[in-house]
Amino acid sequence: MSSPSIAENPLLDRQPGPPPFDRIRPEHVQPAVRVLLEETTVGLEKLESNLEGPTAASWSNTIEALESLGRNWERTWAPVSHLMGVKNSEELRQAHDAVLADVVALGLRMRQSKPIYEALAHIRNDDQLWRQLDETQHRIISKRIRDAELAGIALPEEQQERFNKIAERLSQLSSDFSNHVLDATKAWELVLDDPVDVDGLPASLTLLASQSFNDQIDDDTVPGEPDTGPWRFTLDAPSAMPFLQHSRVPRLREQLYRAFVTRASQGKLDNSPLIDEILDLRRERATLLGFNTFAEMSVATKMADVADVESMFELLREASWEAGQSDLEDLQRLATAGGQDRPLCHWDLAFWAERLREERFDLTDEQLRPYFPLQRVLDGLFELAGRLFGITVDPDDGQAPTWHEDVRFFRIRDENGQPAASFYLDPYSRPEDKRGGAWMDECLSRRLVDGQLQLPVAHLVCNGTPPVGDRPSLMTFREVETLFHEFGHGLQHMLTNVDYADASGINGVEWDAVELPSQFMENWCYHRATLMGIARHFETEEPLPEALFENLRRARTYRAGSLMLRQLNFGMLDMYLHHQYDPAGEETVLEAQQRIAARTSPLEPLPENRFLCGFQHIFAGGYAAGYYSYKWAEVLSADAFSAFEDAGLDDEQAVALTGRRFRDTVLASGGGRHPMDVFRDFRGREPSTDALLRHTGLA
Ligand code: ZN
Repeated sequence: MSSPSIAENPLLDRQPGPPPFDRIRPEHVQPAVRVLLEETTVGLEKLESNLEGPTAASWSNTIEALESLGRNWERTWAPVSHLMGVKNSEELRQAHDAVLADVVALGLRMRQSKPIYEALAHIRNDDQLWRQLDETQHRIISKRIRDAELAGIALPEEQQERFNKIAERLSQLSSDFSNHVLDATKAWELVLDDPVDVDGLPASLTLLASQSFNDQIDDDTVPGEPDTGPWRFTLDAPSAMPFLQHSRVPRLREQLYRAFVTRASQGKLDNSPLIDEILDLRRERATLLGFNTFAEMSVATKMADVADVESMFELLREASWEAGQSDLEDLQRLATAGGQDRPLCHWDLAFWAERLREERFDLTDEQLRPYFPLQRVLDGLFELAGRLFGITVDPDDGQAPTWHEDVRFFRIRDENGQPAASFYLDPYSRPEDKRGGAWMDECLSRRLVDGQLQLPVAHLVCNGTPPVGDRPSLMTFREVETLFHEFGHGLQHMLTNVDYADASGINGVEWDAVELPSQFMENWCYHRATLMGIARHFETEEPLPEALFENLRRARTYRAGSLMLRQLNFGMLDMYLHHQYDPAGEETVLEAQQRIAARTSPLEPLPENRFLCGFQHIFAGGYAAGYYSYKWAEVLSADAFSAFEDAGLDDEQAVALTGRRFRDTVLASGGGRHPMDVFRDFRGREPSTDALLRHTGLA
């Protein structure tokens, strides 16, 4: 460790404050991570041998010792992961990939350490030890124990073997499932060469379709042109969705729709046998761990329980059913007026919904952009955060090393003017080295480092339009909402008052509760005074025209009943399959799909529909018995916002008071308290669906 290159390696810099991002190069990654792995292995072995010795297990020789190992990861590995997203390069990717397997293996070894598990279980079972610890410490220990148990650590040997076999088989099945969907998607195409058949399609889609055609022809075939064809449409979302929305030829929409909802349901690529096996094995794994169903196991690490979810579904379904029906009638009327002389079919819905949207809302991104220059939006957002939470946000650019000249740095002070946190904002899209989308990530967590409090630092990453010439960055309304959303995540990370990294900020927060602060912040984009305070034309300084604001507001509730029912269909089916469904029973999964669709679709379900065979969220992603969390998060965030409505949105004092309560409960508690208790602390009761229904016009 004494060679000069190691000593000067910025990834091994352990100074307080943000990492030296400006000095980190791909060649630093491997040597630094090797040191990290070595340090951690030595530290872990020492920790484990301490626990095996005569010394009794304690908070300090378990969790504290683990946290101090974790600190080095924050300084060495976290910056590498971050730069993979915002300053990617071939060299960085190679360096990252070269160490990834070892990093993952060591992480697994730490989480599945038997001596640590036994020590933690000892602490929990020893009344006297347990009583000396506070609620946050209890949560941290219980969560570590639970995660180890869910990984099978406590099973007797024979069962553990079976458990591992199941895990292996399940991972194979989910990768097969996803490959089938991919192959089935690739195997289908719709090639059109008559311009009449593409009449009405947006230029962006015909361009895509023309490219898609040219990409798959032989070198000696004459390539097509976007204007004259041929055009090739596929089942990939960017091709299929706009096609269903805009194709004026019902026969073609039908072809594509039928292909889409029967993906991976036939022949070699048929996913239905995989679905049965997956459900069967998931249930067996849950049973081995002592749960009745897979859904019960899934929600053991979440905020809601199965009964909460089921009652939420039913309340939302009942409230949306009539609206869904009347949405359908609206479309039927429009279709009839537009000359369609037959009842609507499934492949007509997206088409007529788009026509109705065009008729009702004359609203484009380009109309709104001039009113949302980035700097004004930031000023408005920070001003709102001040009103709500009493914090001050000030730019401090140049005071922290960054990875790109466009990256900004801000400091947050609390109500007493004391430093509380800081954050980076990487605002613009940079296709050459930055991942798309938007996210919040931890840079540093709030924690004690050698007895000193380390203040949290966040990364806010967006992909907005960069400034062009002397024209500032102008945001779409969706980008404004996204910035508010990520800032909400950032607030939970930064305004925590928990000092243990395991539970500070977003750490240790149940997965289905994590979107509460972020979606909560989005609500303010529809609050008149807040939005009108922000939106001014970047050249004329004129406020957003009233009609545009009204349009924005109404567009928010457009077809809310239909959209809700669609999400409920997915969520209810997911929960049913993982809780009640019996693979050995009478009803097949596809029959269950039909039965549940009938309760959520005002238009009679298509008997041939096999969408389950392409439902990757739950069979190849992390959403099994968790699809509900999309709705759950909406319920929580709308209900939290309604506390401000109840207090009076235009009553400054009431808003400030409610905001401080939100700060001191939801934003402060981190993972140190169960999210249902945190919600009760803030709202004075359990979550209710009323506010969401009211906001979406379904009350
Ligand atoms: Zn989010």
